[in-house]
Amino acid sequence: MNGYGGKILRVNLSKKTSTAEILTPEFAKTWIGGRGFAAKILYDEVKKGTDPLSKDNKVIIAAGPLVGVFLPAGAKTTFASKSPATGGYGDSNMGGHFAPEMKYAGWDVIIIEGAASKPKILVIEDDTVEIRDAQKYWSQGSIDAEEMLKKDLGEDFQIAVIGPGGENMVRFACVSHDFGRQAGRTGIGAVLGSKFLKAIAIKGTKAIPLADRKQVLKLGKEMFRKCFESASLKIWQKYGTPGVVNWANDIGAIPTRNFQEEHSRDHKKLSGEVMRQTIVINDKACFGCPMACGKYSHTKKNTDYKHDVRVEGPEYETIALCGANCGFSDICDVAYANWLCDQLGIDTISAGNIVAFVMECFEKKILTKKEVGKDIKFGDMDSFEWLVKKIASQTGIGKILAQGSREAAKAFGKGAEKFAMQIKGLEISGYSFRNALAMALAYCTCDLGGHHNRAWAITHDLEVGRKTLKGKPEKVIFLQHARPMFDMLGVCRLQWVELGLELKHYPKILKAVTGFNYSEEDLLKISEKIWNLTRMFWVREIKDFGKSYDKPPERFYEKGILNKNNYGRLINRYYRLRSWTKNGIPTKKKLKELGLDFTIKDLQ
Ligand code: SF4
Repeated sequence: MNGYGGKILRVNLSKKTSTAEILTPEFAKTWIGGRGFAAKILYDEVKKGTDPLSKDNKVIIAAGPLVGVFLPAGAKTTFASKSPATGGYGDSNMGGHFAPEMKYAGWDVIIIEGAASKPKILVIEDDTVEIRDAQKYWSQGSIDAEEMLKKDLGEDFQIAVIGPGGENMVRFACVSHDFGRQAGRTGIGAVLGSKFLKAIAIKGTKAIPLADRKQVLKLGKEMFRKCFESASLKIWQKYGTPGVVNWANDIGAIPTRNFQEEHSRDHKKLSGEVMRQTIVINDKACFGCPMACGKYSHTKKNTDYKHDVRVEGPEYETIALCGANCGFSDICDVAYANWLCDQLGIDTISAGNIVAFVMECFEKKILTKKEVGKDIKFGDMDSFEWLVKKIASQTGIGKILAQGSREAAKAFGKGAEKFAMQIKGLEISGYSFRNALAMALAYCTCDLGGHHNRAWAITHDLEVGRKTLKGKPEKVIFLQHARPMFDMLGVCRLQWVELGLELKHYPKILKAVTGFNYSEEDLLKISEKIWNLTRMFWVREIKDFGKSYDKPPERFYEKGILNKNNYGRLINRYYRLRSWTKNGIPTKKKLKELGLDFTIKDLQ
């Protein structure tokens, strides 16, 4: 089938088997790829009520039809699972080179099911699939384990690996790849850990069949040319996402000291400019990407910082959450925090949030030295290091914190819930939204929990005015279809967001790659269908799911534009526009319209 490997690999770790299944053209046409494949398979195959950390949960790894072909950044891999962080739908998207290698090996999807009884790695070389012993890699940090695996298997294997956090089933453990790319959110590393699967290594040598090779080359060239003509390209190449630190501070969005504020007086010291001068030693790109937003850093490059580490990053989210949000003012501290989280295999966004949560609880005397095991304060690297190591090993207070801030706050009591910055159990990422109403709606309705990337609507708030409500639900809905569409195709969205590539390029090149004739509207409609499917996953899994889950922590109603009245108006209109009930549940009519009839039985 053009544009696809044409096969699904099913690995059952309990039975120690692997089988190849055919990816049918009908399935490919309906769900396109990446997030679409992952969400559908997860819905069909993970039974209602499954414990996310049991052998019955599955991890779906999916590439898209534009992965690995000649166009800007066909690099993205989707990992999906029932999330141990939230109990709802979970997925996370990773750059690098893993998905292209999957396609070259002939696999569009890898389904990991069951659980091994001892540590294992999965080694895939084209059609050959082996489940091998992994004792020697177990307990190793993600960066170290990847290095060992590359040494043992060969440099040309692409590797996805978990760290001790995943092994110990920390509910926000990530999957790491290429020494610094992460499928960071929703705890998929913990699901792999629960299955005793340390790593997946893959190498492929096949070509991807194309419907119209000449046209792919023509359109791909055109898209690259557009990227190279963009005035923003050089800035992105130089600073990557840390280039937005000063901007995020100026617009009042950078989370500071556990989201108590959104301006950091130290923002300049954490900026992309300072980072470039002091610690960046190289630029790093995902497969086929002209932007190279990855920055590789060495803390000893131009400083006498006490820890000598090399790390990919920190990128903006890590600077925001592990930096300003934890009260740090030295970019080396952030790089070190980044390295710690990467080695331990935990998501920097959730980790930064949870450490800041403990810092504030300690400041407010909700937690004591006796309970934590140490004095904890904002801006103190010893506090950060102590806490993340406790979390990753699930020892002492780390046992509670490893459940995520929602559960930890419940366990601590004494009003701690007020300081847990999470939505649906997922810690909030790096854009505070007290003064950004569209962004608030985007976060609260995100199908993962408190994550910005589905609809990064904060620029819309600035464009149309912060206080106005008009048009904001419409814009959020558009973004929630447009941005995840890229995850479905398997391409990075930053070339569209930042370099001015237009949406219209994508159906054109999709046609040249696959032969499928979709318009821009068709692709957005499929993305809407997936959005409703993931919503139905939440409805099916969580008994009282509805409006009460689509709301911000109370702190966001303090000191800003956002209040219960304007938020209520936004969410009500959002539900109406989506043709959902007043409680935010998709209606039968809507599900039928989208071809999601098979989910109707799960309406409660
Ligand atoms: Fe990867 Fe950054 Fe390029 Fe996107 S812009 S493909 S994240 S290097």
